[in-house]
Amino acid sequence: MRPPYWNPQIELSQAEQSIISKIKKAKLFIFLRHNRHHLFDEEFQAELTIMFKDSTVGYCPVSPAQLALALILQAYTGVSDDEVIEALVMDRRWQLVLDCHDCQKPPFSKGTLVNFRQAMIEFGVDHRLIERTVEIAKERGGFGSSNLRAALDSSPLWGAARVEDTYNLLGHALRKAVRLMAQACEQTIAEIAQETQIDNVVTETSLKAALDLNWDDPTERSYALEVILSALNNIESHVEKKTANQQLSPVVETLQVARQIQSQDVTIDSQGQPILNKGVAKHRRISIEDSQMRHGRKSRSQRFNGYKRHVLRDLDMGIVRAVGITAANVPESEVTEAIDSDLKAQNVKMVELHIDRAYLPSHWVKQRSQDLTIFCKAWPVRNGDRFTKTDFVLDWEHSLIRCPNNVTIPFEQGKTVHFPASECHVCPIYERCTTSARGRSISIHPDEAFMQELRQRQDTESGRAKLRERSQVEHTLAHLGQWQGDRARYLGARKNLFDLRRVAVIHNLHVIARMSPPAFSQQVS
Ligand code: SF4
Repeated sequence: MRPPYWNPQIELSQAEQSIISKIKKAKLFIFLRHNRHHLFDEEFQAELTIMFKDSTVGYCPVSPAQLALALILQAYTGVSDDEVIEALVMDRRWQLVLDCHDCQKPPFSKGTLVNFRQAMIEFGVDHRLIERTVEIAKERGGFGSSNLRAALDSSPLWGAARVEDTYNLLGHALRKAVRLMAQACEQTIAEIAQETQIDNVVTETSLKAALDLNWDDPTERSYALEVILSALNNIESHVEKKTANQQLSPVVETLQVARQIQSQDVTIDSQGQPILNKGVAKHRRISIEDSQMRHGRKSRSQRFNGYKRHVLRDLDMGIVRAVGITAANVPESEVTEAIDSDLKAQNVKMVELHIDRAYLPSHWVKQRSQDLTIFCKAWPVRNGDRFTKTDFVLDWEHSLIRCPNNVTIPFEQGKTVHFPASECHVCPIYERCTTSARGRSISIHPDEAFMQELRQRQDTESGRAKLRERSQVEHTLAHLGQWQGDRARYLGARKNLFDLRRVAVIHNLHVIARMSPPAFSQQVS
């Protein structure tokens, strides 16, 4: 059945006015009550309905507008799915926004909410919520230009799942495989453990407690790996014997995870003993429950596990135009194509991009057109108290580089030029230039002309003022962090992208509230 068009009353009733007068904080409830009909106007509701018509779940039984509002409020208040349903019958602020005053029965069930969220993710509809707030911000703020000045930055988002060392990861995978197998075969865990002769590994909740070894001793650690890998072989053989059981595919997947961890972390030494690899595999798995979390770095000394959240802020309107999520070990520059594809629907042309150096290898910089100006601090050039690269003059027309002693040699971008030792050894300013007996060398960046442009810009007062504009996106990231927190709510990048998109919607609604005409203006906090 086609979901009903949601047509809540616009005028406030007396009861609603009384509720509103009692809301001292969390004023987004008030703003949404005043503006829900505008945010989910007839056209947008029809669009959402059509989107869900194509889904395999069929028509959503409840108005998508009501469900989407509930998901926004869920992120705003940081509550669980169960608490959303509870709030619908117990919290007057929720009832005010969702138009279900004094209801004894929630307007939808937890299952409907979960299915709706899943459908939004599967059909990629969540970015439309951000786009809708962009449309409203343009109307309310009177922004007509299609030129976009934007700043992009990222912050860490710690993963929701447990991070474990290799022994515990393998132990966790084994226990999970045995539990799933017990369910599939309708046996107890103890029976499966006995049949596969791995009771010594899976009977305790912790693998280290089960094995009770001296973990400081390399021989005992190697023995532990031997025991774990042999248990893994036993379960695999057991599963192979039960090919007729269709329920075993989750077990097979879990065993594959265990093998993935083995291949990344364990090697067999010359004596045939398993030992842990030295160093860390490139995309090392760090959690059983979340396959996409990774180790990452905030700085050289600070590490974190999980994801990076990326935010693109419109510097003129102050709203978030698009967001992205990457695993913590993925370079920042790899997110820009996904963000760009979200921007395409907004029909804007980027004319200024403010970034930090981590985004310099991005496609926006590499494939930039003449119309796009990039604002970024250049890589610093340091050489103690001797001449730096900026003391050398590049002649782009003839591809020549001239040193402070007027020696000129050819250069190529992306290569290192070496001034002849014979010239350097007799140079009167040699001491101020280099200590190398082989003469001075200078490395030329693959996009050296661009680096020069950045350096020249940051040498001017107006250029430095432009660079400071990037700090606005740092404030936006902090603002989003208030609602999303530092730790991910969900497992996996896509669900966390959904979560980041809805907190971007909350941020945008706050910005719209500040730019709205007085009739609509309700300061939100
Ligand atoms: S040391 Fe070599 S590169 Fe440096 S100024 Fe002298 S001649 Fe030029």
